[in-house]
Amino acid sequence: MQDKKDNFDVTVIGGGLAGMSSSIHLANAGLKVLCIEADPLDKDPVGESLDWSAPDLLKALGLPMQYLLDQGIATYKRHVILKLRDGAEQHYIPGEWLGKPPYNVNLRTLHVDRSQLNQALREIFIGKGITLINDRVAHIETAGRVVKAVVTARGERIVSKWFIDASGSNAGLFPRIFDLPVYEYGPHKVAMWEYFTVPESIEGTILHADGAGPPYMEWVWQIPIHPNTISVGYVTTGEMVKEKRQQGLSVRDIFAAQLQRFPDLQSLLHEPGREQPRTTSFRCRVFANVAGPNWLVAGEAAAMVDPMTSNGVTAALRHAAEGSSLIIRYRNRQTLSRLSAAMYSQRVLSLARFFNSGIENVLYDWPIRNRIGPFNAGDLYTIPAWSMNVVYSRLRPQGLIKTTLLRLLLATLRYSLGAFHWFCKRTQSSSTSGAAS
Ligand SMILES: Cc1cc2nc3c(=O)[nH]c(=O)nc-3n(C[C@H](O)[C@H](O)[C@H](O)COP(=O)(O)OP(=O)(O)OC[C@H]3O[C@@H](n4cnc5c(N)ncnc54)[C@H](O)[C@@H]3O)c2cc1C
Repeated sequence: MQDKKDNFDVTVIGGGLAGMSSSIHLANAGLKVLCIEADPLDKDPVGESLDWSAPDLLKALGLPMQYLLDQGIATYKRHVILKLRDGAEQHYIPGEWLGKPPYNVNLRTLHVDRSQLNQALREIFIGKGITLINDRVAHIETAGRVVKAVVTARGERIVSKWFIDASGSNAGLFPRIFDLPVYEYGPHKVAMWEYFTVPESIEGTILHADGAGPPYMEWVWQIPIHPNTISVGYVTTGEMVKEKRQQGLSVRDIFAAQLQRFPDLQSLLHEPGREQPRTTSFRCRVFANVAGPNWLVAGEAAAMVDPMTSNGVTAALRHAAEGSSLIIRYRNRQTLSRLSAAMYSQRVLSLARFFNSGIENVLYDWPIRNRIGPFNAGDLYTIPAWSMNVVYSRLRPQGLIKTTLLRLLLATLRYSLGAFHWFCKRTQSSSTSGAAS
């Protein structure tokens, strides 16, 4: 085993969205960055419907909205539509007032072709002179809470001053090695998706669901990644997929049966030359204490946010921007201040807990959805969730006061939705048992 001779300031583990973005920010500040990516082929990236905060974060990396549109990497997203099986639908559109001072929010965001977006980022990344090695980090050397070196599967030992773990939700290397506290949300889920050609698409993300009724919601996304190409994906529980596989159904059969249930989607099944659906499985979870003396965790390795929130890309870009700015600030001290590390962790934790618990309590689980109806439940989730992202982008919390304010606000909203969920569950259970007796 050999020490790699080059003296890197920062080692970034993972060359996905969070890893590439962190590397670019750090290289822009003149730091020498090494990025280690286990799977250079970048197969099947997902995350195509962006939250309203994402375009500014992409612009900071050198990818302004207009460029992404001109290059055919993105389409406009103006709203989200919830469509039920009976054809009823509700449109969720950011209020006009958000576009006016003092908020000045761009009322349009983007859908992206993730393969093309990753390629555009990779070109910027390479242009910055960042060193990329295609290998897998297999071992992490620590001394107490300090990361000393990482060792790759090919036996390369890499020493640097700083380390970022951006290895995604399946690996989560530093959370495992430091045994970080974890909060989990909802059951294990599976997503399966395909791309379809359509005559024309709309400037919005469509979510197809049953609405009121099922104890746990399944849903289908429809995202126009190009004017004539849509991504269609089905998200359900791992248990449900297991049950259907035991009945002898293939992934393709399960996907087709779900699309068949929605009148708008049935015609897609007749498209010739369809490929096998791509699949992934995940569990929403968030780690606490995701920053240490000379390391931090970014993107899904720190917090896996449910895809229905459309917040994964924003979170990965935010963690990358905030985490790298911390390293840049403390580059001469060689360790993060305890307070800055704690504040970074608090922001990652409280935002992801808010989104995950909100979507689980209000939409996935039955009590609120069945009591106020799926469309009102959609409002109950989107209004605070979208507002919090606007508040976050405008407040740019970094220090103790703003981070604490944000935490309090997010915790209040989270507890309020949790209390309403408890109330709806209790009253509906008692009215059911009352009716039965
Ligand atoms: C089904 C689904 C749909 C989604 N839809 C949306 C959406 O519509 N909108 C949205 O905003 N977000 C969405 N997301 C979330 C979004 O895709 C992710 O949050 C984002 O891509 C995460 O980026 P990342 O860099 O943190 O992780 P990843 O993209 O997973 O990157 C991690 C990288 O680390 C590498 N790696 C892992 N282990 C090692 C190792 N030991 N050594 C070296 N490299 C390693 C991996 O190969 C990988 O390339 C969705 C997620 C899922 C699962």
